[in-house]
Amino acid sequence: MNLAHLLARTARVFPEQPAVALGKSELYSYGEWFRRAATIAGGLRALPGLQTGDRVALFMANCPQYLELLYGIWHAGLVAVPINHKLHAREVAFIVDDSAAALLFVAGDLGEEERIWREKNPDLRIVSVDDAAYRRLTSTDPIAIVARAPDDLAWLFYTSGTTGQPKGVMLSQRNLLAMTLTYFPDVDQATPSNSILYAAPMSHGAGMYNFAHVLVGARHVVPESGGFDAQEILSLSRHFGQVSLFAAPTMVRRLVDHVADQDADCSGIKTIVYGGGPMYLEDIRRALDVLGDRLVQIYGQGESPMTITALSRRHLADRAHPRHRERIASVGVAHSVVEVVIADTDDQPLPAGTTGEVLVRGETVMQGYWRNPEATAATLRNGWLHTGDIGSLDADGFLTLKDRSKDVIISGGANIYPREVEEVLLRHAAVAEVSVVGRPNAEWGEEVVAFIVCQPGVSAPIAELDRLCLDSIARFKRPKDYIFVAALPRNNYGKVLKTALRRHWTQQGGNGS
Ligand code: AMP
Repeated sequence: MNLAHLLARTARVFPEQPAVALGKSELYSYGEWFRRAATIAGGLRALPGLQTGDRVALFMANCPQYLELLYGIWHAGLVAVPINHKLHAREVAFIVDDSAAALLFVAGDLGEEERIWREKNPDLRIVSVDDAAYRRLTSTDPIAIVARAPDDLAWLFYTSGTTGQPKGVMLSQRNLLAMTLTYFPDVDQATPSNSILYAAPMSHGAGMYNFAHVLVGARHVVPESGGFDAQEILSLSRHFGQVSLFAAPTMVRRLVDHVADQDADCSGIKTIVYGGGPMYLEDIRRALDVLGDRLVQIYGQGESPMTITALSRRHLADRAHPRHRERIASVGVAHSVVEVVIADTDDQPLPAGTTGEVLVRGETVMQGYWRNPEATAATLRNGWLHTGDIGSLDADGFLTLKDRSKDVIISGGANIYPREVEEVLLRHAAVAEVSVVGRPNAEWGEEVVAFIVCQPGVSAPIAELDRLCLDSIARFKRPKDYIFVAALPRNNYGKVLKTALRRHWTQQGGNGS
């Protein structure tokens, strides 16, 4: 078993099918994609010292070479280590070192960054896809696909590391195949007339959706910007039609604003899969109004990539359902290949309606953390993946997430889920973004503090924010302090860094109370 067979199969069945485009320019067919992958594999295996199972890292913005390289790496029996291209050179050096990558592929010219990488990894081979070395690699003799076993490592996925150093999540060939096959029943149908548009980093979930689209022979479109640009996405969607894309909630919001402000035509978009972070109720409502029934939500984490639960287009569209509001605020139901339970601290399943930790088991759950048995043992216990997310299941199996367990605020012995308070504050017209965290307090343990970003040119009076909370949630959940900021600190995946917010008072030298 080797994921490279997915491409080989489609290339055999539909060799002429358009496969990869850069912007509106068609680059090559499936037959050609497979030939390129087989040649890259030949070039990689001709490098001295490279053995089956060795790691090859990729550090570049979305580009067409990403796709041929991924398949070249698997074809050669190697392991891909895709690295978020927005990471700092030192973070990249850490990942290259931790994964013991034999080779690092990059794009463009290297300057200072190369020096930093070499400081830690003096023997590292670095190949830029824009250099002659890459052209040589892609013009050697092709080789046959190297056989791999189902549990062999295919993708080493580094967590976003919102706390501490990133950890390498070991995803096997079997994990990724299961993730791919569950796309069709749980997320969306796909056909050869569809196109997948890479508007989010290929190093993350967006890149993992390549497999389902390779399997059906759909077109893969890489935006020329290499990233997320609402106007470009709409223009490419109108050009190709039947486009699917993965987008983080912040991207969906930008797309919705653009479509609403410009009255833009989004008919070329077939499906937007959103997830990777919380989408607030107000935002999803507006997205459904503005974009129509094009949305599907997934909830996953690197440790069970893209595959814990999904909220289908059908459920999002079923506005007449008596529990529609609760459902669109949920993350949907378990993917077909996993079991999801809510458990207490002893891993005992809790009844519907009870809040506890989300546990997952099944075919998509990682093999463990790379060279980190302690972290593996802490996360994979009693046969379950401990997600660190807190939530509850309803009687129909819909999961509602409350928050990450480490973000729960405990004040006077009561648990407060920041997201609940954030949802309320976001209802104020002047509030653009909000993040709620706990601040140490001598009397209560912790107290609720809200960081608020206002809409441009307006302010949100504290009395009105207080009133909104008093009208909607228990008194003890109301923020004791509001801190107005220009922007929320986010990591390179767009996730709010609550640890950075908490530093606000540690840096001020007191506990703020
Ligand atoms: P990562 O492994 O970096 O992709 O982060 C995964 C975490 O993001 C999960 O454990 C959740 O806390 C959060 N997350 C992912 N998808 C969703 C979603 N649809 N709604 C809310 N939070 C999500």
